[in-house]
Amino acid sequence: MPTIINKTSLTSVADAQQQIMRDATCTLDTQRVSLFHARGRVLSAPVVSMVDVPPADNSAMDGYAMRMEDLNLDIIPVSQRIAAGQVPCVLEPHTCARIFTGAQVPSNAQLVVIQEDVDVIAGGICIKPSALQQEQGQKQGQFIRLKGQDITTGQVVCETGTKLEARHLGVLASMGIEYVEVYRRLKVAIASTGSELVNPGQTLKAGQIYNSNRFLLAGLIDQLGMELVDSGIIKDERTTTETALALAAEQADIIITSGGVSEGEEDHVKGAVEALGQLDVWKLAIKPGKPLAFGRVKQTPFFGLPGNPASVLVTFMIMARPFLLALQGYSQSQNQTQGYRLKAHLLNPPKRPSIRQQYLRVRVVSNAGSKLVIEAMTNQNSGVLSTAMEGHGLAVIKVNTSGEQAQQVEFLPYASYGV
Ligand code: AMP
Ligand code: MG
Repeated sequence: MPTIINKTSLTSVADAQQQIMRDATCTLDTQRVSLFHARGRVLSAPVVSMVDVPPADNSAMDGYAMRMEDLNLDIIPVSQRIAAGQVPCVLEPHTCARIFTGAQVPSNAQLVVIQEDVDVIAGGICIKPSALQQEQGQKQGQFIRLKGQDITTGQVVCETGTKLEARHLGVLASMGIEYVEVYRRLKVAIASTGSELVNPGQTLKAGQIYNSNRFLLAGLIDQLGMELVDSGIIKDERTTTETALALAAEQADIIITSGGVSEGEEDHVKGAVEALGQLDVWKLAIKPGKPLAFGRVKQTPFFGLPGNPASVLVTFMIMARPFLLALQGYSQSQNQTQGYRLKAHLLNPPKRPSIRQQYLRVRVVSNAGSKLVIEAMTNQNSGVLSTAMEGHGLAVIKVNTSGEQAQQVEFLPYASYGV
């Protein structure tokens, strides 16, 4: 059933999400970037290993490489010394090799005995009697890191759509990868509407406030590995709004505005979008963030987030982020795109139910055993952003629930949403 939008009914969060995500696909060009500069980029092709990692069996400890049959010899001569980076020779019969962590083990060695288990004596070494006893006994293969134990030749190590974080870069480097194929960065234009806004660095005059949303949104977009197009502050005037949106539509792949999207005489965003393109979704059953708008400015997708900073945070996280990730080419199958939804017990649920799905700013009280206990921050006013800064995530309160019924909730940790 298509969602019906009119001025009086609110679209449910689920319906709006479905509608917004309907045409969300990645059409970006790809480019080749050096691994060193690839953090935050999204792979446009899978990475297949051309090598085994590690490339050869090597020692996990400082000690002596030898064969099992020689463990009980009174004297085991040391016939070679192998430091990391050196190439070993085959072990001579009934001898051992002094070996160090990371050094390649001789092909016929069967174990490494750690140096703590050895006495150095005239003519070689002997294994300490205590280290030969059953419990601590020496075992075949011990302290040898096998060739290919991490990655094998031909293995698909990263799928298309993987966002590369530091840990991915480390793995790709271990395979000798120097360049990766990635989607170009999605260009996201952000504009803050409001004649009362000034940017930090200027003195506030009467009636003015500082522009929080520009910094909030810029940070959120940077976290997703996207490119920011700063469309500045737009005054609350219809023609100024239209001109700014039309320009942003040419400069970026998607536009995100804050403020000016309600129904007041000073709210010009909705009208401007309808004049320049189309409005597909407007007014959601969500708290905070009701006046959220989604549509197109010319052909460019558009999100009009509400003005209050806490509403910006919530609607970005819940509505805009999944769409942005899809456009950037993030794989939908990966947990990096989903964010965690953890079961939690909310100590202070809302007393009254709401016809809107609520996203409360919460903090974690305890995490003992397997029980996650959270508490809603005292001030849930949508103009208050500091309670988001101090807390750890959002709790989802379903429509028409309150009291005890609203105590078992989903907890969305900011950290897993890049917030
Ligand atoms: P609006 O949605 O434009 O009616 O704005 C709702 C509230 O959010 C008003 O109190 C605005 O002053 C405030 N607001 C709008 N944009 C910003 C911004 N960029 N930074 C801080 N507060 C804002
Ligand atoms: Mg405004």
